Amino acid sequence: MAFMEPFAIIALVLILARLVTELWLSRMNQGHVRDNAKEIPPAFRGTIDEATYGRSVDYTLVKSHFGDIVNVFDAVVLIAVLFSGLLPWAFENFSGSVGSSALAMAGFLFVAAIALTMLGLPFAWYAQFKLEERFGFNTTTMKTWIFDRMKGFLLAVLLGYPLLVLVLKLIEWTGANWWLWAAAVVIAFQSLLLVVAPAVIMPLFNRFMPLPEGGLRERLFALAERTHFPTRSIEVMDGSKRSRHSNAFFTGLGRFRKIVLFDTLVTQLSELELESVLAHEIGHYKRRHVTKMFGISIAGVVMAFAAIAWLARQQWFYRAFGFEHQIGFAAANVVPAMLLFTLLAGTITFWVSPLIHIWSRRFEYQADTFAGATMGETRSLIQALRKLSQKNLSNLTPHPLYSSFYYSHPTLLERERALRGGA
Ligand SMILES: [Zn+2]
Repeated sequence: MAFMEPFAIIALVLILARLVTELWLSRMNQGHVRDNAKEIPPAFRGTIDEATYGRSVDYTLVKSHFGDIVNVFDAVVLIAVLFSGLLPWAFENFSGSVGSSALAMAGFLFVAAIALTMLGLPFAWYAQFKLEERFGFNTTTMKTWIFDRMKGFLLAVLLGYPLLVLVLKLIEWTGANWWLWAAAVVIAFQSLLLVVAPAVIMPLFNRFMPLPEGGLRERLFALAERTHFPTRSIEVMDGSKRSRHSNAFFTGLGRFRKIVLFDTLVTQLSELELESVLAHEIGHYKRRHVTKMFGISIAGVVMAFAAIAWLARQQWFYRAFGFEHQIGFAAANVVPAMLLFTLLAGTITFWVSPLIHIWSRRFEYQADTFAGATMGETRSLIQALRKLSQKNLSNLTPHPLYSSFYYSHPTLLERERALRGGA
């Protein structure tokens, strides 16, 4: 690499800037956690015991160090892949032997994605079977883990590959405006997935069961009735199949939407606390948060395809990464831009994600407010949040800059404060 194209240098600087920021934020957060580790901070005294607090500090630090290693590895791989000449070489060879039809080019993108995913597998394995195991969270068997990956691969083959072929065909069929058509098709596909995934995809990975008969069911159904939420969509999921972590979420649009309580959550919380968690999830439904987040992702898809279409016409962009450039509306003219954009997208979205997190945290506050108003008290939700945070060994003392950058949910203290203020 005696000489680098100007845009190659810009890309390299962007990748390194992201890595440096990640490591800096992480180091600052680790320092903040360590400073608070000596004794339980006053805000949490009386709500958590020494041993649990100590374990949450250890868990946070171990995960954080592991995250640093993964971030460095990802950046090194990205730099190697982008600047070694591997991509243009693979592209030439692939189109030389398989051809440059839409079917073949989609295959090239697909193989590239699989290869990159494989590189991350050892880290995923380590996180699950070493790190989570060490803190008593892992319940995944090797068989479940391998089956999960195989199911994910099959879904990519059955859904992802045909979609990719269609997008590349659209380039040939519609010419200069292909990116608008492609965005429309991908958004339609995502909408369909959002509606049917809770009924068709999620059951491939977990078992969903109606709430068992009894006091809890009566209590939760009464709440659902009070808030006009369709009761048949409250289900319990066998989260314990993979982990002792507990959670609850609201997902889907339209007919198949549902609120899911992890079985681990059901055993950890009291009936009253579960009611308040359900009230929070119903709050997400009432305030249409899934629809609003989907709006953002629609905007993201349109911008991504507009960017790819534009980049595919820029000679400097192709040259920066060693590709030969030809303007045209064949799949092979656009595929390098698509691949390079996908690889580089993370270096841009990294800086945008804090804005989306601000939005997401606002949704959490709204759902909490709804829960407080519906329950007529905030004590039970606060109690539930405290228990959840302890059982999951959540970091109680993240650095404020770190949590505002990365957290999709406000911290425990922020939520307690807001709930108290609103009550
Ligand atoms: Zn929520």
